[in-house]
Amino acid sequence: MIKRCKAERLPDHIAKHEWENRFKIMAIKRLGPSLVPAEVVIPLSKLGRVMAELEHTVKQSLVKEGIVIRSEASGEPEVVILGFIPSDQRKFRYNFVFGLSLSIMKIAEKHGGRAYSTGLYYSSKAQQVLGKTRVARIKAFKQKVDPKAILNPGKVINGGLLSKFMNLAGKFEPLIRPFGNHVITEIGERPNTTVRNIPGDVAWYAYACSQCGYCVGECDQFYGRGWESQSPRGKWYWLREFIEGREDWDQFMVDSILSCTTCELCNKRCSVSLPIESSWLKLRGQLIQDEKRMTFPPFEMMAAALHKEGDIWAGYRADRSKWFPQNLKEKHGPDHKAKLVYFAGCTASYVERDIGIASVMLLDAAGVDFTYTGEKESCCGMPMLVAGKWDLFAASRLGFEIPDPHPEVQRQWAVFEAMIALMTPEGFAQLMGAMLPELIDAMPFGMGHMMRAMGKIPGALNLMKPMFPVLFPRLLPKMMPQVMPTILKLVGESIPMPDYMREQMPELMPKVMDNLMPHMIKDVVPLVTQPMVDCLRGKKAG
Ligand code: SF4
Ligand code: SF4
Repeated sequence: MIKRCKAERLPDHIAKHEWENRFKIMAIKRLGPSLVPAEVVIPLSKLGRVMAELEHTVKQSLVKEGIVIRSEASGEPEVVILGFIPSDQRKFRYNFVFGLSLSIMKIAEKHGGRAYSTGLYYSSKAQQVLGKTRVARIKAFKQKVDPKAILNPGKVINGGLLSKFMNLAGKFEPLIRPFGNHVITEIGERPNTTVRNIPGDVAWYAYACSQCGYCVGECDQFYGRGWESQSPRGKWYWLREFIEGREDWDQFMVDSILSCTTCELCNKRCSVSLPIESSWLKLRGQLIQDEKRMTFPPFEMMAAALHKEGDIWAGYRADRSKWFPQNLKEKHGPDHKAKLVYFAGCTASYVERDIGIASVMLLDAAGVDFTYTGEKESCCGMPMLVAGKWDLFAASRLGFEIPDPHPEVQRQWAVFEAMIALMTPEGFAQLMGAMLPELIDAMPFGMGHMMRAMGKIPGALNLMKPMFPVLFPRLLPKMMPQVMPTILKLVGESIPMPDYMREQMPELMPKVMDNLMPHMIKDVVPLVTQPMVDCLRGKKAG
């Protein structure tokens, strides 16, 4: 079947990746963080022509998802194309990019297609989308149950202002299109800017949330309280309102962030694959630790007790080990030395002692050699972490001074990010562009010399250009050892790295090149071909 359809069997790792992420259907949104939707239905017979026209007309990145429907009402097979253009709704240029959805609609209609759905924007196309009879039925029902059009005004059937505006804008589509095509759209997560004290990554995720609602029913906090504001979707929505200055923190919203139970189910369900729970955790630190807002009052009592006695239940430290079974003291108590330590924690030590007792009895019965630290044991600090009281979570509260990791973390990540940028076709092309003379000299079999000579003959290199993609992958392994010192020098100059890393580069870089180049070279060659031709012609230093 694959052969008959001229299809291609993709490698297993791609199949595995697709399967594992089959519910992350909107992950693309993280690159925007917004998407301009362009969803149309077209006849299957026109698919090729529509695709070709889309390629030609839309210059922005257009993600397309397609579903073939064997036989629609017309009796003809159709294709639903769900198109998305990553963009950023916080930028004015988003409005221009939005105009391209009109271009896509126009192409679909030209080929006998239609809008996929009506919604608010295309409610004036209801008959086209839903059919005359269905629209009449929906209108009659609406008239009966909602004569004043209170529910969803202007949506689906009754062309509202937005729909009228889209109709009008459709007429000016050819004028709008060049703007949409020529604005520069950055793609990829850029979570760097803190907005109104909201950390950059959290602010980015607030806009990346697709508001799909997959997380809502699963959220502990939501089903405990029943209000949308207590679900991840509600909180992301509120954060957008806050970022845009239409909302402000009050104790209710601070509590809403604190009330998350940290179950992390939302992380699993999210269609955009957002790190939701850790974002709330970050906000807790921001709100309570940094901005000194009020945490849940009982946490203050726990904090004071933890500070004084090392536990959250205000028990005396001297009583911490009283729960430990007497008959196991000699075998597993603080005086016994073992590789494994049983950590009971505050609740098992002072409140639910049966948990600790049963646990150590089971471990003993299972023949595990363990010890217990007794009165030296302290709270794990987790309640302080979730309460946003991060100063008490810190090891310094136990008398340990651990250096602030942030400067080092930032330094290491800067190196890592620079490496990521280098290890892309564009990064490698840039690197090669900076050492073209060395690359040409390193060509084996005297080819560099020959190509330099050809550079002097008008038109000769143009004839050779199509051979570059074939030649380079073969020549490069032989050239690499010769140009490696230059590569190391250039990498060292462009990526400021710690000494220990620099020392290891001569050993690491050849391995990296050996592993990456065979996969990337076909993408790198088109990027370096012209600069190399220019260099051979003597247009650049060489
Ligand atoms: S981690 Fe928090 S926000 Fe996520 S599902 Fe659990 S309670 Fe809800
Ligand atoms: S946070 Fe919830 S509403 Fe937002 S994208 Fe994820 S699953 Fe959908």
